Amino acid sequence: VTKNPQQPEVNIGLVGHVDHGKTTLVQALSGSWTDQHSEEMKRGISIRLGYADATFRQIPGVDAPECYTVEEETEDGEETDVRRTVSFVDAPGHETLMATMLSGAAIMDGAILLVSATEDVPQAQTAEHLMALDIIGIENIVIAQNKVDLVDRERALDNYEQIKEFVEGTVAEDAPIVPISAQQEVNLDLLIEAIEEEIPTPDRDETEDSRMFVARSFDINRPGTTWDGLMGGVIGGSVVAGKLEEGDELELRPGREVDEEGQTEWRSITTEVRSLQAGGNMVDEVRPGGLCGVGTGLDPSFTKGDALAGQVAGEPGTLPPTREQFTMDVELLDRVVGGEEDEGIDEISTGEPLMLTVGTATTVGAVTSARSGEAEVSLKRPVCAAEGAKIAINRRVGARWRLIGIGTLK
Ligand code: GDP
Ligand code: MG
Repeated sequence: VTKNPQQPEVNIGLVGHVDHGKTTLVQALSGSWTDQHSEEMKRGISIRLGYADATFRQIPGVDAPECYTVEEETEDGEETDVRRTVSFVDAPGHETLMATMLSGAAIMDGAILLVSATEDVPQAQTAEHLMALDIIGIENIVIAQNKVDLVDRERALDNYEQIKEFVEGTVAEDAPIVPISAQQEVNLDLLIEAIEEEIPTPDRDETEDSRMFVARSFDINRPGTTWDGLMGGVIGGSVVAGKLEEGDELELRPGREVDEEGQTEWRSITTEVRSLQAGGNMVDEVRPGGLCGVGTGLDPSFTKGDALAGQVAGEPGTLPPTREQFTMDVELLDRVVGGEEDEGIDEISTGEPLMLTVGTATTVGAVTSARSGEAEVSLKRPVCAAEGAKIAINRRVGARWRLIGIGTLK
């Protein structure tokens, strides 16, 4: 498994309970992560939301599914043909990182739900993640029944039945269930076949307004760099519509908080695309799929330390509005998933704090007005979001934030 010959064209989320094998599977399909991104990107984005690119290939003259592989050459030294490059978004299993998983879901074109054959179904995050996919509307799903090397046939079948029962009535109802061992690399060809069939690359319209969700931002200059050697600020994230090209003008929202005569207000920032990086290579243009880094003309102090994380970038004048408050339709979950047994969810009440994830932005808001099925919130930090945007709503339950519902921006 080596370098990817092309930019990834589709984002596939890896979801499922902690320790069920998400990271192991991504590694089996993509090889080492080391070559994928520059140091900054690797340390930064992959940790927050692990991305890794993989290229699916096909052995010429061999029937499916045996033809599917990620290797450049067969054992006999025959070259394999490239099918497509995909980008895996490895959702952290940790419950407190649920918001990150949801912000990742906003850019997922499909998902693999990993379920370990060694445990009863569903475990807490298996249920929580599937519910999130369901609500956010990710319909292209493959279920990987992992760790089948650790169970006997009877147990595997029993576990399979549990999975079937669990997904009944959900968005994953008809998803194929592929028994694999990520660690022993068993049945990966079958898994690739299922992904190729269930998670096609969406039709993209290149002429749409360009849109990028910013997940990270950096100052890549070494301390002490003199003024004339200074590089502009870098933003990292995902293009979700249109395409970005070197030389494009770029607007970022919400932008920056400026203070004028004691009044503070958020103002968008405008700059240009000076360089582009995708799949570890410098490129001329970037389309949706995978992660990209954008070198800009911004003062690096603006981009330092993720200052622009959660913002939206695109052609000037085309971005959705910046909102310091908004009203959303609210769909509460039936119960706190992964919580104590059958913990119900109370209605949202006026005055309560909520943690809201919109795109790649996570912000805390106070509820200024709550009615049944609707809430109005006032945000600590504004977000740039279009009408209809999906919002993950988290409430403080005990010591941590728990997903309680999904909002739709009005
Ligand atoms: P994640 O939390 O879902 O990312 O899970 P990891 O990929 O970190 O895997 C958790 C543990 O399970 C690690 O020790 C893996 O080596 C092990 N593991 C993952 N997949 C398999 C598998 O197919 N078979 C066996 N025996 N162990 C596995
Ligand atoms: Mg992991």
